Amino acid sequence: MLSTVSAPRLRIAPSPTGDPHVGLAYITLFNYVLAKKFGGKLILRIEDTDQERSKASSEELIMESLRWLGLSWDEGPDVGGPFGPYKQSERKAIYRTYVDKLLSSGKAYPCFCSNARLSEVRQEQRAKGLTTGYDRHCRALKEGERAALLGQSTAYTIRLAVPLGGSTTIRDELRGPIEFTNEMIDDQILLKSDGMPTYHLANVVDDHLMEITHVIRAEEWISSTAKHKLLYQAFGWQEPQFIHMPILRNEDKSKISKRKNPVSLNYYRRKGILPKTMLNFLALMGWSYSADNEIFTLEQMIEKFQLRDIHLGGPVFDLVKLGRLNQHYLQQLSPDEFAEFVRAEIFSTDFLKSLHPLVKDRLEVFEQFVDRNSFFFNGALDYSALVIVPKGKEAGEFNEGMAELLLLLDDLYLWSEAELHTLMENHRAKLSWKSKDYFMPVRLIISGRPDSPPLAASMALIGREMVRFRLRDYLKKNSHI
Ligand code: GLU
Repeated sequence: MLSTVSAPRLRIAPSPTGDPHVGLAYITLFNYVLAKKFGGKLILRIEDTDQERSKASSEELIMESLRWLGLSWDEGPDVGGPFGPYKQSERKAIYRTYVDKLLSSGKAYPCFCSNARLSEVRQEQRAKGLTTGYDRHCRALKEGERAALLGQSTAYTIRLAVPLGGSTTIRDELRGPIEFTNEMIDDQILLKSDGMPTYHLANVVDDHLMEITHVIRAEEWISSTAKHKLLYQAFGWQEPQFIHMPILRNEDKSKISKRKNPVSLNYYRRKGILPKTMLNFLALMGWSYSADNEIFTLEQMIEKFQLRDIHLGGPVFDLVKLGRLNQHYLQQLSPDEFAEFVRAEIFSTDFLKSLHPLVKDRLEVFEQFVDRNSFFFNGALDYSALVIVPKGKEAGEFNEGMAELLLLLDDLYLWSEAELHTLMENHRAKLSWKSKDYFMPVRLIISGRPDSPPLAASMALIGREMVRFRLRDYLKKNSHI
């Protein structure tokens, strides 16, 4: 067990594919605390090998929200450092070199199978009730066949040659040894046909080259750690120590997900949660300061923290508890801090400027502003005095349409006025509902009033998480969906 560690090198490795997730803040916090406690370094590495899903805007948002929390890093794409570049998309050539080493030592092999063949194999396995996985067809190719195929310009991937027998044991610093039968481990793709590495290859090569000593990540990665261990062995490298944190859960104990609870840090920031509340709350998800004290600062946590005190039970992301904790911290603010907080987080100049075009033609005197536009600042709305289901429509049919909208909004790639407008117009057309039967009720659900500013522009400003929260809240209160 790690009771003393000298100058550890830790990293957080977010994939910039969406809004900054509370789970990322939770993992960053524990990495940060361990680095600070033992005079080590924290590295931020952007894992953007999934080029289709990665967004530069998400990268910025991630850094911005971690900074808001007061968590900083010593090396990263923005601050530089001796082990850069810190963005995987800029390290493509490095991965190729390492994959070539595995190819020449026979630890990896090219796979020429088409997607069509791979899905046929999977279908057959499913039909026979077998676990699905690659059937290692290309691993069995003769040298001559392989050379011939390599000579043709067919696209191919590179796979890890997982040992055919035996088992792989990883060591988790909190759980002890965990054994995996090699038969259950797929010949993992390391390099995709477009030359991009997969998560597994890039993660291992980078953790090694960046001299990472401790990997603290969520427990959902445990099975990947077995593949990583095999990769470390294939390269002949010493693996870092692994610490898998218990994942955050919804109240029903399922893994925290945006389908049930808002998970974006920005949502909580806009809601008016103070950074110190969030840090204290996330710390409590995996660790306690003492049996009778739930309130502590980051500095106190660093001082008292011991890895062995991490509890493995499924921590529940309890919104009532978060609210209570925030109330405590709000009460502690001085008048200056209070004013600063409200100005920076609630009525920020940027937010007011983006509201300006929506509200400027709708006001005679300023006293109308707060009352008419409170839904831009509020959380849940009161629908009890509103008739939302349009006349002549069955509540069941209407609610199903709204549940469908909720899902569509989740998948919307770019959250902007234009995209929102197109999405809703297409959805309305698909449902064959009249405009007024669609847009007025949506407006009422999102803003709580029939005379609010233009709908798509308002939704763009309110943000994905709050818009989805209101739809979900409406459905929860008015239907069984
Ligand atoms: N890119 C992975 C993620 O987005 C990193 C997992 C790890 O820490 O290895 O969570």
